[in-house]
Amino acid sequence: MATTTLPETEIINTKPAEPKSPSTKYVYFFGGGRADGHGKIKDVLGGKGAGLAEMTNLGLPVPPGFTIQTEACREYMRQNAVSKEVDRQMEEALARLESLQGQKLGKGDNPLLVSVRSGAKFSMPGMMDTILNLGLNDQSVEALAKIKNNPRFAYDSYRRLIQMFGNVVLDIEKKVFDKIFDAKKKLKKAKFDTGLDAKALQEVIVEYKKAVKKHAKRDFPQDPHEQLVMARDAVFRSWLNDRAKTYRRINDIDDMLGTAVNVQIMVFGNLGETSGTGVGFTRNPANGDKVFYGEFLLNAQGEDVVSGVRTPVPILELEKIMPDVYNQLRDITTRMEKHYRDMQDFEFTIQEGKLWMLQTRDGKRTGPAAVRIAMQMVDEGLITKEVAIFRLDPNQIPDFYVARLDEKDVRLEDMLTSKGLPASPGAVVGQIVFTADEVVKHKRAAEDQNKKNEEAIKQGRRAETNTSFILVRAETTPEDIHGMEVAVGILTSKGGMTSHAAVVTRGMGKSCVAGAGEIAVDEDAREVQARGQVFKEGDWITIDGSTGRVLRGKRKLLPPDPENLAKLEQFMNWAEPFRTMKVRANADIPRDAEKAREFGAEGIGLCRTEHMFFGEEKIPHMRAMILADNEKDRRTALKRLLPMQRKDFIGVFRAMDGFPVTIRTLDPPLHEFLPSREELMVNIATLSYADFKRKKSMVEKYKDYGVKAAGDLKKILPELLKRVQQLHEVNPMLGHRGCRLGITYPEITEMQARAIFEAAVAVAKDGVKVFPEVMIPLTATVKEMANQAAIVNRVAKEVFKEKGRTVEYLVGTMIELPRAALIADEIAKEAQFFSFGTNDLTQTTWGFSRDDVNKILPTYLADGIIKQDPFAVLDREGVGQLVKMATERGRRTRPNLKVGICGEHGGEPSSVEFCHQTGLNYVSCSPFRVLTARLAAAQAAAGEKLQGDAGRTK
Ligand code: PEP
Ligand code: MG
Repeated sequence: MATTTLPETEIINTKPAEPKSPSTKYVYFFGGGRADGHGKIKDVLGGKGAGLAEMTNLGLPVPPGFTIQTEACREYMRQNAVSKEVDRQMEEALARLESLQGQKLGKGDNPLLVSVRSGAKFSMPGMMDTILNLGLNDQSVEALAKIKNNPRFAYDSYRRLIQMFGNVVLDIEKKVFDKIFDAKKKLKKAKFDTGLDAKALQEVIVEYKKAVKKHAKRDFPQDPHEQLVMARDAVFRSWLNDRAKTYRRINDIDDMLGTAVNVQIMVFGNLGETSGTGVGFTRNPANGDKVFYGEFLLNAQGEDVVSGVRTPVPILELEKIMPDVYNQLRDITTRMEKHYRDMQDFEFTIQEGKLWMLQTRDGKRTGPAAVRIAMQMVDEGLITKEVAIFRLDPNQIPDFYVARLDEKDVRLEDMLTSKGLPASPGAVVGQIVFTADEVVKHKRAAEDQNKKNEEAIKQGRRAETNTSFILVRAETTPEDIHGMEVAVGILTSKGGMTSHAAVVTRGMGKSCVAGAGEIAVDEDAREVQARGQVFKEGDWITIDGSTGRVLRGKRKLLPPDPENLAKLEQFMNWAEPFRTMKVRANADIPRDAEKAREFGAEGIGLCRTEHMFFGEEKIPHMRAMILADNEKDRRTALKRLLPMQRKDFIGVFRAMDGFPVTIRTLDPPLHEFLPSREELMVNIATLSYADFKRKKSMVEKYKDYGVKAAGDLKKILPELLKRVQQLHEVNPMLGHRGCRLGITYPEITEMQARAIFEAAVAVAKDGVKVFPEVMIPLTATVKEMANQAAIVNRVAKEVFKEKGRTVEYLVGTMIELPRAALIADEIAKEAQFFSFGTNDLTQTTWGFSRDDVNKILPTYLADGIIKQDPFAVLDREGVGQLVKMATERGRRTRPNLKVGICGEHGGEPSSVEFCHQTGLNYVSCSPFRVLTARLAAAQAAAGEKLQGDAGRTK
């Protein structure tokens, strides 16, 4: 399980760590108009620390302080302590700060108070901890009260420190303090925090200190230096908290980077009506409008703005209240934007009329805002087009063309899980349905109903019957395809990023949340359990395939905006000239092929022919073919399939006129076309009813599970089955599938080859430029390849002779097994092209089953055993090495070998970058990822060309 503690081996060693080297500079000072560091060393100072240094160097009003660099955090992670050298340099910097300010930390008539904040290389908003008002104790609080002539302010600051310190450093639950505070408010009949006067706050402090003693078994530290050391270490530890780990995983940030710690003098926004605090952006981060955007609160501290207790005021109001401060703020932030040449997100505090800048950094923004801002900045001459093309994360492209959740309508109490896998983007609202057949049934019934009532609906006399259904299943199988086709979205509790549900919905451009393990789907009982609530068929839910969230009820959605799409097109035109690698699509039917062309696909990299067999008219023949126990019957069934398959190929070839189409011969195990084993078992079991003798033997059989008498069976067996089902393993399907099918049933390959070439010749006659590439799946030996290639070539010859026309074609293979990668030079003797099936290659390299990896993956990710889901992001270290090696070896035999990738990784930016660097000719992905892949490929090439910071791996 995920823990916040360090791994055991690291806990044992609590000796002070050895410094990296005696000369390591751990602490960087900033203040008095200059800083030791600068903005470019984010690795060392973290984003915040680098920003503070840069702002200081630019002469901006930054509260002085120092940054303890990330190496100290790594040291802490390794050895559970920092070296003495870190302590020494920190004390030295503190002394420098004290002398600059003419104050002493927590001492004297005018005590120095500091904040202690985290700040990693990549911004991780709110994920780590912060401590404010450090330096306050029983004496300094009195001095503060006197010097500010404001006892209430001083006691409030002190109680906030104890609360934050207690929670963050001493691990006392927040609610312990909240309870005390709320009770005091109740007692004093105070509606708001501000309703507690100085005396009441003093009482709160006494109670807080008692709570610290009780829960932490120690006193709240009165020594300011001890406070500082403890706070620093707690911030280092917060790098390893669950929130931070999850955030890093989602955002692809290396766990080993560590955070820096920033210690700065406190500035107070809560010193009366000439003080305040706020946050803002130099342009609108939601839509990209060029407006000064943000909010602030008068007489408040930063946490009041984010806590939502008081409603902040739009930042433009500040112009009326404090025009000078407003103008200065605008001036500074505009300068910062020009300096960094990017939209800035900033934090500021006004203390008694004086403006202090606490932070400015590149602001996070939506996809559409990213494009608009990048284009504006090119127009303004701030950046070049070459730089602009990096300003959109390719992963943000789906934001442009799918519906999104309206975040204003996302409330915590409606959230059923936020931890599903974002398998296929887009948010949808629908009624729960548990089986594919029923989705089809409900949808048809609703449509019929609406047709019948068309007039009444038009006139507003009748409401339209809902036609939006979400198919909710533990996992989907190819048998569910008809239901998936008509559902608006799919939710599964099992399965990873390359599970059936994920792959198929991505191909369809349909929203899908997969592997939502916190949701229990009981298909037999037709119910879903989540967060203690039970949902039945017909209940409304909302799923967000862009983020993996599932919410109860009908949440509001925001539709895609055509104006944004137009801007995206323009933006893509800037990026495209850099791209050198082709982008194809995985498409199985003419409709998807057409969609793929719309998104700019340059061919089909994978046509999974099995998907063609699921059509209503084909499946009976497919089943007859599978159930045939002799070649003659099999050939009879195949003969019926041939014209249907040919028709599909004709459609695909036409849609791809002028582009290559890679068609894979039948791959999946044949049981996928038949009813499930479990279903059959149940049906058989209910055919007859057990007699006394049978029951007795069952009792004997299950005695180890607590069955003592026949009467226990009814209760215990279902419980046992439940657990058995939980533990049931679906092992990777590596048996009778892939080329093994075509070798054991050569007539299948024959039929498919015939359908391909007959279709190719037919369209060629109509003037379509057709380039079929027949692809053999799952080969492990050159002989397998030769066997299948011989069939394909023979059939091609036959068809060309029969039809009196030839077409150019290739026969190649998928590389999906480590053995194939190892002997790629051999395989290339027979294969005219390679396409990496990285879904299976990941499965076979790791020994993880792609369909039930989600039982293991969340723990592995949370515990940092692996950094990323290898089924989502190509594992460069392992699988990537095989890809590289196979490409090199294959080209050794056949220098012009065309090499592509058609696993799900073909649409994932970091994997696309890897493919570009490895010299692949193309990536192939679902039609809806084509734009993402195109941009990622363009960025990879441009990054190389411009030698810019294009690396996507953090
Ligand atoms: C693969 O294995 O990567 C692949 C594309 O084939 P499939 O997903 O159909 O097994
Ligand atoms: Mg495969």
